[in-house]
Parts: sequence; C-alpha cells; structure tokens
Amino acid sequence: GFRCGIVGLPNVGKSTLFNALTKTAAAAAANYPFCTIEPNTGDVPVPDPRLKDIAGIAKSANILPTRITFVDIAGLVRGASKGEGLGNQFLANIREVDAIVHVLRCFEDDDVVHVEGRVDPVADAETVETELMLSDLESLERRIVATRKKATGKDKEAIQALPVMEAALAKLQNGEPVRVLLAGMDAEERSELKTLNLLTSKPVLYVCNVAEDDAASGNAHSQAVAAMAQKQGAKSVVISAAIEAEIAQLPAEEVGDYLEAMGLTEPGLDRLIQAGYSLLDLITYFTAGPKETRAWTVRRGAKAPQAAGVIHTDFEKGFIRAQTIAFDDFVSLGGEVAAKEAGKARDEGKEYVVQDGDILMFKFNN
Ligand code: GDP
Repeated sequence: GFRCGIVGLPNVGKSTLFNALTKTAAAAAANYPFCTIEPNTGDVPVPDPRLKDIAGIAKSANILPTRITFVDIAGLVRGASKGEGLGNQFLANIREVDAIVHVLRCFEDDDVVHVEGRVDPVADAETVETELMLSDLESLERRIVATRKKATGKDKEAIQALPVMEAALAKLQNGEPVRVLLAGMDAEERSELKTLNLLTSKPVLYVCNVAEDDAASGNAHSQAVAAMAQKQGAKSVVISAAIEAEIAQLPAEEVGDYLEAMGLTEPGLDRLIQAGYSLLDLITYFTAGPKETRAWTVRRGAKAPQAAGVIHTDFEKGFIRAQTIAFDDFVSLGGEVAAKEAGKARDEGKEYVVQDGDILMFKFNN
C-alpha cells in the first residue's frame, strides 16, 4: 500500500497524533478484513462521503473505505545524518515511505520541553530538512563518482542517469531540497529521480500542531509555516494533536458536539488523511453491489487493468474490459440499471485512464 512517514523533532506531538490516528482506525477495524496494526505502523481508513451515497443506491450490506498507511518515524535529532540518536535507522525508515508528513510544534507550553529551547516551527523545519539534505548529499556524492566514470566510458544507462544526478547534486550543494526540481522535469526525468530514492525528493506535508484554542483559526506560528510551505510548493494543515487524542477516546455519538464546542466542523485527522492521500497523488475508484460498496486506491494516471490488479492479480492478467459509470451519473440517475438505460455505463478497454470516482465492474478471463 501507500505509506506516509510521520517525522519531526522530539516532543512536537508525533506520537500523540499517530496514536490518535491508529486509535480511531482500531475503533473501526472490526470492519476491515486485512487491517493489521503494528506498533509503529497504522492502516488508516480514508474518509470519503461518496461511499455512503453509493452504498445507499446499491443497497450494499457493507461499506469498506480504502486505506493508507502511516508510519511513526521516531528518532530525528540534529546530527541524525551523522548517526546521532537513532539517525541511521531513522533515515532508513524515511527511505521506505512514499511521502513525508512533517509535524511542527506550533503550541506554547512551558511544561513540554523543546529540544531547541524555543518554539519556532520554521527553524525546526529547516533543522530537519538540513539533516535530510546532508544525508542525500552524502549518498549522492558517493554514487555520482561511479556514474561519471561509467558515462565517460559510454555506458548508456549512466549517460542517461547522469544529468538528473548532477542537477540533484547542484541543488543539494546549494542548500535546497531535491523536490524543487520536480516542477520543471518531464516524466522520464522524474522517474530517473525517483530511482535515486533521495529523501528530499519525496513530497512533504507540514502539520502545524497548535494548542486547542488555536485549532479552528491557527496562530502566528502556523501562518509562518503556511508561508514557508507555499514558497516550497508544499502544503500545510493545522491540527491540534491534543484535540485529536481527545476525539479518539470519545464515543462516536459525542464527537459532533465536542467538535462544535471547539469550533470545528470535522476532525483534523480527516483533513490530514485526505491531505496525505492527495499528497501521494492518489485517486479512488469504487466497486458496488449488494454485498458491499468498496473504495480502492490507484495512482493518478493508472489504466483500467492496473486498477483491476489492485483487487486481484488475476483481474489484471485476464482483463477484458471495465464497465464504467462516473460517480455523478451513478448518483443523479439512481444506480447501475438507470445509468445503463441512459447510456452512461461505458465499456472501457485496456488503455482507459481511470478517473477519480469511477464505479467499475471488471470483465476478465480466468
Ligand atoms: P513526539 O516526541 O513528537 O512523539 O511528541 P509526543 O506526542 O510524545 O508529545 C510530547 C509531549 O507534548 C507530550 O507530553 C504531549 O502530551 C505534549 N503535547 C503533544 N501535543 C500537544 C499539544 O497540542 N498541546 C500541548 N500543550 N501539549 C502537547
């Protein structure tokens, strides 16, 4: 599945947030056949209001949301790239995630020690980013020597890889994360960059952990983070980990009242999960029938056979076609039969690029 790694300096609220995420997921876990929750890894359902609409029309007995995985990556301190703290372990863990959720302390509380002795989330972000850049710089400097040599010897793969490596190295030497290159790259260069698996090439979402009273409106710290994120082409969300921890403990029927008292319309975790989902450039398609309505995740741009493969590899191997109904048609016409009659159930083949919200039914050989 797709994985978001939660990172940040010590004492910023990572564990509080992660525990709230997995507690909420665990409460719903009874409904998820393949949900495993390990100590530092949690599969979290992706909230999607469309599921209920589809299930109502299809008269489904069950609703199964899709999930993404959050990993709590502890151990980052200044000097991590030199092996300080759990530095090496920490960096190895980041290598294995698809995106980074970077938690920043935006709350004042004299009882909670700040490792740098002051609350300054923009400076904290720089501290963490510097460790990641140093680690990338070291690994790239090591690898580029061999690639340069091979390219001089007319090695085709090396000749193709070298320009992207040189560009990445130049950015890092200039104190910039590699991800700033992405916007100006074509698909081939992006894929070349991806194979380097550099830490600072991964997409980042900043999470501003604010005090309860600032949850609805944010504060000066979270505004500073938002400005920084905008400059980097990254996103930020405001969340109060303390509130989320409280919500995770409440019986479901009390959550609405509690949110209202806090001036919120939905749990921050829902926003965080959805932001993580879009950070990974993921979209959702649905299958619907009397047994269940279920959401499935694919990378944006995936074609129909790949989408079928998410359900079962046999569906991909034997793919023939996919009956496709757009979500809006399904809902406005009132279901599959009516959509067919209105000519809104299309038969799509191998080259069809799946759209967010498609309701699919696969025909396949087995
Ligand atoms: P981690 O080291 O980043 O995982 O941080 P923790 O989640 O363990 O939190 C460190 C300390 O900060 C704990 O004592 C938390 O109760 C406290 N904490 C976390 N979030 C908040 C918050 O939003 N407000 C306040 N006042 N304290 C918080």
